Amino acid sequence: MKSITTVVMVLLLTVFSNLLNAQTTNPEKQLRILIIGAHPDDPEKAGGTAAKFVNMGHKVRLVALTNGDAGHQTMGGGALARRRIAEAKKAGETIGAEYIVLENHDGELMPTLENRRKVIRLIREFKADLIIAPRPNDYHPDHRYTGILVQDAAYMVTVPNIVPEVPHLQKNPVFMYVNDRFQKPNPFEPVVVVAIDDVIEKKIDMYACHESQMFEWLPYNRGGLDEVPDTPAERRAWLAASRKPASAGIADKYRNKLIELYGKEKGSRVKYAEAFENSEYGSPLTEENIKTLFPFFD
Ligand SMILES: [Zn+2]
Repeated sequence: MKSITTVVMVLLLTVFSNLLNAQTTNPEKQLRILIIGAHPDDPEKAGGTAAKFVNMGHKVRLVALTNGDAGHQTMGGGALARRRIAEAKKAGETIGAEYIVLENHDGELMPTLENRRKVIRLIREFKADLIIAPRPNDYHPDHRYTGILVQDAAYMVTVPNIVPEVPHLQKNPVFMYVNDRFQKPNPFEPVVVVAIDDVIEKKIDMYACHESQMFEWLPYNRGGLDEVPDTPAERRAWLAASRKPASAGIADKYRNKLIELYGKEKGSRVKYAEAFENSEYGSPLTEENIKTLFPFFD
């Protein structure tokens, strides 16, 4: 009798656990999010949101359109590209996402037809539901052209005779821009602000994987190489102290949006956030699909 009860209990547990798994891994419900940046370490701007998607069982792929082979004071070319590709791979593994680096040279990305086709392929092959990329307003030409290239791939991904060797998408995905500080020709206006308090350390861990940038090139470029601590633990703490204010600043700047999305109590308490504006060239973001594509506001 006892063993029958045990068998029934095991069966019930199996059914419940399958039901729970189905909520996160059911292929029909699993979202596919493509986060595109210019350089290895740029997609990390949405790294907290990426980590949250992965934690919920969704599929995230991070892409850098250039290999970062210019961003260093003493290294360059193939050796630097290989180092940066390895750093990016490690950053992706930190959150359980794939990180792809294309072969374009750093500092030389152009909005060519060839590159547009590459981006169309990327989006189609991944069957992206949601794409996150920079706006075409930015100080760095590679960032601007990444914005242009992704924008130019919107809609075209649905046209069968464009890049005909890769099956077209039936539906134009939703395209979102990640936040920036540029005011001209128009300031960034988020429609979605995601609280990342639970994953802020993961975001810092991702940045810390980009050693050649965080602890070498970027400090050198701003004249602060002597501020970088020596030990890995001190470096991690130093990086957290310099990177967290940006995510905290977004939470404060877009506090009203956080309150609108999360409610007064929760929205007021958010410490770290990432913000996204919808592109008019993708499928529209509606009251309905915003809940499906950003399943964070309960
Ligand atoms: Zn960059």
